[in-house]
Amino acid sequence: MDTLLIDGTWRASREGQSLDVADPCTGAPFAQLARGMAVDVDDAVRAARTAFEGPWHQWSAAERGRLLARMAVLVARHADELAAVESRDTGKPLVQARAEFDVVSRYFEFYAGAADKFAGAEIPFLPGHTAIARREPVGVTAHVIPWNYPAVMFARTIAPTLAVGNAAVLKPAEDACLSSLRLAQLLLEAGLPPGVLNVVTGLGEEAGGALAAHADIDFITFTGSPQVGTLIQQAAARHHTPCVLELGGKSPQILFEDADIETALPSIVNAIIQNAGQTCSAGSRLLIARSRYAEWLERVAERFSDLTVGPPSGGHACGPLINAAQLDRVRAFVARACGDGVQQVAAGSIAADADSRGYFYAPALLSNVPRDHPIAREEVFGPVLCALPFDDEADAVALANATPYGLVTGVWTQDGSRQTRVAQRVRSGQVFINCYGAGGGVELPFGGFGRSGHGREKGLAALEALTAIKTVVQRYE
Ligand code: NAD
Repeated sequence: MDTLLIDGTWRASREGQSLDVADPCTGAPFAQLARGMAVDVDDAVRAARTAFEGPWHQWSAAERGRLLARMAVLVARHADELAAVESRDTGKPLVQARAEFDVVSRYFEFYAGAADKFAGAEIPFLPGHTAIARREPVGVTAHVIPWNYPAVMFARTIAPTLAVGNAAVLKPAEDACLSSLRLAQLLLEAGLPPGVLNVVTGLGEEAGGALAAHADIDFITFTGSPQVGTLIQQAAARHHTPCVLELGGKSPQILFEDADIETALPSIVNAIIQNAGQTCSAGSRLLIARSRYAEWLERVAERFSDLTVGPPSGGHACGPLINAAQLDRVRAFVARACGDGVQQVAAGSIAADADSRGYFYAPALLSNVPRDHPIAREEVFGPVLCALPFDDEADAVALANATPYGLVTGVWTQDGSRQTRVAQRVRSGQVFINCYGAGGGVELPFGGFGRSGHGREKGLAALEALTAIKTVVQRYE
């Protein structure tokens, strides 16, 4: 239960309380976490502040880069062990979890390379003056992350903040955080000084709330639901703390009549069943040109009917949902939609080796979905794909933009001009043309419009938010 990492030491929460970690395949508890409270968050923030102002501040960018490069190697070396931890904690297929650690390693590799290449600029100014815009670390950064891709989220947010020289406090999700603890351990092994990364496990409103509202935080990055994103931004506003919010999505995949359907099909199905649909960038709406609607819906339905859901090592398309609340939420969404006349045209099946106490949900393909129905506009966060027909390009763009979200869009067409027009008109943080790379590509800036959040992570864009510009003007004779 010593799952708080504070100033380089693992310890229990000060109040001695703990939380159970349940296996989503059976619902049975298999581990315990320290239930960190405000007082633990205080300790963590203090440790981070001291570390930030201490020797860490003197590390050169190249030294920080070398540390991250060592971490990339350590993650690669321990990838099988880490994948087993992740798969147990989240229920996701072992193969998927293993692939995620290639991404985790790549995050550390990417930001290792970026550490000594991300720089400010000299600004042309008055004669006899030198003006520079320095890029400085913001200071102590707070990171609140979700349970769906715990290790990937850890790497996505922690690697860039260390690259630019900040000190951090991380609040992982209570439903799945064991890989975060192991990654933090590996960072210490890689040579990270005590206090530069602190981890407080605990409940959202307790540990997460205390962190977001803390007066001595210089920046907050939050990945999670829009509802909690609102609370984080309100808490941050009290101290004028800047924040980046990476929230939900209702991402469309648009199939124009000239789409290469053979290439599109596997990508469309994968984009909604990956991680059992618990992906912010899941392609959860399938917009099909009306002239092809019946034919292509049938093709997608065939694939859905073949999908099986079961335990991580069974070779199934999906594992369980994360917890009972998530299962209830997905069931309720679909039941309400079907009650309102939406048609379930195909569904996968729950495999015989799935434990009946687990949170398994068979992927569902829905048609006859009214455009303004909640299931067409709201994030379900499960393996549920809504198919909707459109009439022409303008209608496709309008329908793509007809939700409060704007995270990722897939566009499938052979027409080059149409590709450009649609990419420009959709309100979406990323657009993929004739592919759908949700989640992939650590180099690619990522973030949303509207209820999908604001600010950008990944790529070099992440480093902009994690640094402050200081303008220095020097007069010379
Ligand atoms: P959540 O908002 O319930 O929890 C996310 C994190 O916030 C957890 O660590 C949780 O403990 C913490 N939290 C909860 N209540 C809090 C509070 N009052 N104050 C501070 N922290 C609090 O989200 P979730 O259910 O873990 O994840 C699902 C959501 O995350 C979905 O909406 C999904 O789309 C989104 N998500 C977005 C991205 C992205 O990059 N845009 C990536 C992954 C997940």
